[in-house]
Amino acid sequence: MQQSYHTIVIGGGPGGSTAGTLLAKRGHKVLLLEKEIFPRFHIGESLLPYNLPIFDELGVMPELNAAGFPKKFGAQFELGDKTRWVGFVFKQGKFTKHPQAMQVERAKFDHILLKNTAASGVEVREGWTVGRVDSVENGMTVQATGPNGEKETFRGDWLIDASGRGNLTGNQEGLRVMHPALKKLAVFGHFLNVKLDAGERAGDTVVIRLNNKWFWVIPVSAEKTSVGCVMDKEEFGRWKGSPEELFKHIVQNNPAILDRMKNAQRVDEIHVTADFSYKNRTLFGPRLLRVGDAAGFLDPIFSSGVYIAMRSGKLAVAAIAEAIKRGDSTKPFRYYEKQVFAGMDFYWEMVEKFYTTPFMEIFMNPREKFDLPAAVNAALAGELQGNWSLRWRMRLFFLLVSIQGRKRLAPRIVFRDQ
Ligand code: FAD
Repeated sequence: MQQSYHTIVIGGGPGGSTAGTLLAKRGHKVLLLEKEIFPRFHIGESLLPYNLPIFDELGVMPELNAAGFPKKFGAQFELGDKTRWVGFVFKQGKFTKHPQAMQVERAKFDHILLKNTAASGVEVREGWTVGRVDSVENGMTVQATGPNGEKETFRGDWLIDASGRGNLTGNQEGLRVMHPALKKLAVFGHFLNVKLDAGERAGDTVVIRLNNKWFWVIPVSAEKTSVGCVMDKEEFGRWKGSPEELFKHIVQNNPAILDRMKNAQRVDEIHVTADFSYKNRTLFGPRLLRVGDAAGFLDPIFSSGVYIAMRSGKLAVAAIAEAIKRGDSTKPFRYYEKQVFAGMDFYWEMVEKFYTTPFMEIFMNPREKFDLPAAVNAALAGELQGNWSLRWRMRLFFLLVSIQGRKRLAPRIVFRDQ
């Protein structure tokens, strides 16, 4: 007999585990199907301060604190040739409600969240891959294959697709729209002995901007630091050597990253992953919501992915509750889509502009006028709800960037790296 649930969640990453836990806390019968067995490796290690209230809501803060993840109080941006540097400290942000975040090893972090989901009452099945999703009367069915090849069909009144970049239902329905320009790729690894700053700045995310590409430096434990380079897929394709040789070549040619990596020792292999930005045309169906990367994926410069995934997981639960109350999902699901797209579009604009030189010229040269640096600080912390006083400042910031393209407001930057 087909097993029936209030909601089925596909995927046990941060988006799926958030949605599952919050549904269970409302007393619903929930099934979460995850194709991997946790803990499993995942990239995406720098979190935002606005993640923290969601951790509280999930009741998972004690476990995260006990895991001893490095605390992140801010973010730094530097040019590869060391000619410019700018740093943000979240607690100095006038518009930022939450002063700190954490850096995590995703295998551990995602596992803590998923165990908490199971402890909240969700039936979590690991090693179960969902193959197909169908709409049925007043619900959805999913066909899944278990760890021993067993096949089952499950029915849910509601379905949340949190399948990440696997983008299960978006692909099934042909909804994915790739960003025309952001066809990137990431080359990364974990290292010991990466040079970090002293004191509170030791936990910062450091972004080093090169010509058309950038590096991240993210301490993920007391010893280990994640270092990665995001570059154009085409440039990667032109390289004749191995990814490891390419990584070393870029490090050697850029003083800012070389300075941090001089004594570094690699602890695992160099990974390469596609990093193409995309969005699905719509984020809902009659009984279905897409959350996290299954809604859209964004180049990770501003470390927004996990926060967007968890926030959308939370919003999806609220949308389902509202749909049940009204006896109709149309309006609540449209509202859900609007909120998630608004958050994604905000970072989308930041990411697109980040690859332009005028953006870097204004961004790397903050002036204390109109509290603009504080507004940018809030955006970097994950303040997406911001009221008008934040929004007009961000519009002004983008206006300055577009003026800088034609008229010199801030000193010019010439990228010399290769
Ligand atoms: P995921 O975390 O990917 O979880 C999806 C889950 O669904 C997976 O566990 C998967 O196994 C499962 N699944 C997939 N298909 C199926 C199926 N058919 N059946 C069952 N289960 C399935 N974000 C940040 O916040 N900070 C960063 O610093 C950052 N850096 C990044 C660097 C790179 C190079 C990349 C590529 C991404 C980065 N991100 C970062 C983005 C971040 O990794 C994602 O946005 C985040 O993991 C999204 O969470 P999610 O729950 O939507 O998806």
